[in-house]
Amino acid sequence: MCGIAGYVGARPAAPILLDSLQRLEYRGYDSCGIAVLGDAGVFVRRSVSPISEFRNEVLPAAPEGTIGLAHTRWATHGRADLANAHPLVSCDGKILVVHNGVLENAFELRDRLIAQGHRFTSETDSETIPHLLEQALAEGRTMDEAVAKLPEQLVGSYAIVAMREGHDELYLLRSGSPLVVGIGDGEYFPASDIPSFLPYAQRVIYLHENDPFAVGRKGIRRLGSGGTAAEAVPPLPQPVSLNVESVSKGSFEHFMIKEIMEQVAAIARLTDAPPPSLATAAELMRGASSVKFVGAGTSYHAGLFGQFLMGTLLHTDSEACVSSEFEFRADTLRPGSVVIAMSQSGETADTLQAVRFARDRGARVIGLVNSESSSLTRAADVVIPLRSGPELSVAATKSYTSQLVALNLLVEHLAADPTGVARTILQARDSLYELTSDSARSYMASLAHSLARHNHLLLIGRGGHYVTALEAALKIKEVAGFASQAFPGGEMKHGPLALVGEGSPVILFYDRSQLARAELAASELGTRGAAIYTVGPQPLRSSSLHIRVNDAGVATPIAQIVPMQLLAYELAKLRQLDPDHPRNLAKSVTVL
Ligand code: GLU
Repeated sequence: MCGIAGYVGARPAAPILLDSLQRLEYRGYDSCGIAVLGDAGVFVRRSVSPISEFRNEVLPAAPEGTIGLAHTRWATHGRADLANAHPLVSCDGKILVVHNGVLENAFELRDRLIAQGHRFTSETDSETIPHLLEQALAEGRTMDEAVAKLPEQLVGSYAIVAMREGHDELYLLRSGSPLVVGIGDGEYFPASDIPSFLPYAQRVIYLHENDPFAVGRKGIRRLGSGGTAAEAVPPLPQPVSLNVESVSKGSFEHFMIKEIMEQVAAIARLTDAPPPSLATAAELMRGASSVKFVGAGTSYHAGLFGQFLMGTLLHTDSEACVSSEFEFRADTLRPGSVVIAMSQSGETADTLQAVRFARDRGARVIGLVNSESSSLTRAADVVIPLRSGPELSVAATKSYTSQLVALNLLVEHLAADPTGVARTILQARDSLYELTSDSARSYMASLAHSLARHNHLLLIGRGGHYVTALEAALKIKEVAGFASQAFPGGEMKHGPLALVGEGSPVILFYDRSQLARAELAASELGTRGAAIYTVGPQPLRSSSLHIRVNDAGVATPIAQIVPMQLLAYELAKLRQLDPDHPRNLAKSVTVL
């Protein structure tokens, strides 16, 4: 959550930082801010406007200074207003800090610092950091020592970039929140994520937990190393494999629609060259005493799909758990248990915590992850890369279908009829060409028009189609701000039917094997006045609008979700919402 960017080098920092902020906007957009050290002292600006407006305001006024930092916030402590926007400063205004994460002992630290005479100007937990640094300096420590002491003082998660007036270095520290450093030619770009500095730096250093560094024009140096040359050596820079096109919208209006359209290619990358680690992961599962899938949001839905696949194709029991609820299931793990942890970013704090619970109980961990340089990659025994490319829209689209494909490929290794499984994956993939065509898009735009005047939507399916209903409901909720709820087909009569009245929109998902039951459900709903929209191989008698998705066996949900992603996108646009930046949400939820 939240984006941090820093710059130190020979060029003016402000244009680079503002550009970086725009590329980090997917990580949080409650407020933003920048600080640059110029000849006339520290230049600081904060704003609650969108970053593009902030950029236009700040650029003409910013000094030419060549060191600075910037932040786009996802608020955890204190409202999303100007006073709480980062950077946060010490009492003397000379220490500036941007922070990503949550400090669990913030109240305690704040009380102590106030008792020591510090004055706070925000409600954030983050503001304790500049005051702690200021206090350490007042007690006679150097800036290096003050930064190196923070891990003893802070409880919680943090990625920190700090700057001090009169000093030409940026100070870096992380624990539990991501922070990387782009390395250019005599310039450094600390950031939450690689897209931030992609046009400027082609090498990157991944910082370790509580391993503080300073970067300046003279280089990068480790703080608090016992002084031996070996300890002072920073981690080796690695080449950046992303390119600028992959993190720009190109000719598309939004990242979301670009990423929906990229799904055919993303899936082809997985099916044409399946990751070799699938075989190792399958081997782990073969001998497992139990299998659990963990994930949050869309990744949890992928976990439910994994559970469905194992039950249907392998006749094996497994359990899908929401990452943040995993602590209540973790004690059922035994050595020999396997946990399949799923996260697009590989930085989802809830999922990483679930992995720690699993590890503590001796379980083996398979990570299904899109961002290969992430914490989950390091924490898992076996990593299955999704290879769907950077996903910058907050709502997951291509990473979800890639997760479903990867799970199918994994189960294929264990299935009695692997050829049959492989065939269904290819059938699903092939139907995506039509489902992402221009005509499919305008068809979903017309459905969006007929739904736009409602304020509640029900989505119904059985088995794997229930997973589609859940994921479609989530997409429509988050992107279009539309109350939508998913239920298993058989559950309607046990309660939700009470919500159905004249004209209530209901979307039904099914395949050919479920036609008779779908007809019955549609008729029960239709007689109560519902408007029935159907997604399946052929329309039902009471369909008022039908979206054709051919059967692809157990892999059908891979294709079925695509028109729903388009529907969520078109609904958001109709409601004049920005599909890439849903209210209150951010990509990569790195706070617990
Ligand atoms: N906890 C801090 C705040 O609320 C930082 C949140 C973030 O990561 O953006 O300001």
